[in-house]
Amino acid sequence: MNTSSDTNSPNPAHSISEQSVSESQPAESQPAESLDPQQTTAETAALAAHLQRAGIMWLPRPDQHSTDQLATRFPVGDTMPVSSAASDGSQLDQAQVNPDTAGSNPDSDRAASHKPAHPNGEVSTAGNTTSGSQPAIQRPTPNRPSATRPASRLQGVSAIQTSENDYSGAPQPTDQRSLQLKQLKQAVESCTLCPALASCRQNTVFGEGNPNPRFAFFGEGPGEEEDLSGQPFVGKAGALLTKMMQACTLQRDDVYILNTVKCRPPGNRNPEGDELSNCRSYYQQQFEILRPEYIVCLGAISAQELLGTKLSVGRLRGTLHQYFASKVLVTYHPAYLLRNPAAKKAAWADLQYLMRDAGIQRPTR
Ligand code: SF4
Repeated sequence: MNTSSDTNSPNPAHSISEQSVSESQPAESQPAESLDPQQTTAETAALAAHLQRAGIMWLPRPDQHSTDQLATRFPVGDTMPVSSAASDGSQLDQAQVNPDTAGSNPDSDRAASHKPAHPNGEVSTAGNTTSGSQPAIQRPTPNRPSATRPASRLQGVSAIQTSENDYSGAPQPTDQRSLQLKQLKQAVESCTLCPALASCRQNTVFGEGNPNPRFAFFGEGPGEEEDLSGQPFVGKAGALLTKMMQACTLQRDDVYILNTVKCRPPGNRNPEGDELSNCRSYYQQQFEILRPEYIVCLGAISAQELLGTKLSVGRLRGTLHQYFASKVLVTYHPAYLLRNPAAKKAAWADLQYLMRDAGIQRPTR
């Protein structure tokens, strides 16, 4: 995986992610004396952070006494190297007081399709009968790193950088961006690359918002209400997204909102791999035109698709990744937050992290 840490921004995600905690072996008939107290302390800290990410708000702080008790009752086998930073429980402290370092993992590790969308990096409006009228936008193809799992499911990940390059070409003035977006929207409206989606859609949902945005919010795909209205993020999930933006002192008109696929998957199922691949060119061209400073991925599918990884939201959140020149923050999809209100605290921590990095201050009341 082509990864690198973002040295220009605070990166609080390195608390758990950089400790070398490995998977434990089955604890069958091992003597209690074989337990490494440091290892137990570190693993307890990592487990505690993981449980907290899953929504458990209070956990006991591991200490030597409880570690010894556990060692007596639950002997384990092989010892393994443990970093000194993790051995004193400070990692747990950091995870407890700094929710930015925590990432819950309720989303499945759904595999994203990573077929290179367009060899040679050329913009395509495949399937578009009006492609001849499209602006010729040359764009380097982002790296599609092969995702590798961390050694432990409790670990976070370092920042993913999909490309070392900036977006190609020079930024366009706002009126030119609006024109390019309008032409691309027309191409999407006539697209039939995914027969299963094109045949049952009421409307394509291209995206909308400020053509010169600082922030772009990137979701999965249209639902029923979006399909009927042709607008992204309407209905209850849309209302919650609006609240999330407002909590960051942003209005919908300030940002741009788009999805990975422009047509509603029947029954609100997840987009298939070939559908994501078919539609990839469109969102890539949108980002090329928009050049947002920040892309906020809402949910696993958009994050996995954009970053070329199979990792879950829980592991991807808490750090800023990179898509060309845009910083990428991963957080939970508003629809998921509606189903799992306990995760709102983590989502709010993500937004606070975003505001800190962007230099946004909420007005004091
Ligand atoms: S989902 Fe995208 S690629 Fe598929 S038919 Fe709709 S616009 Fe075309």
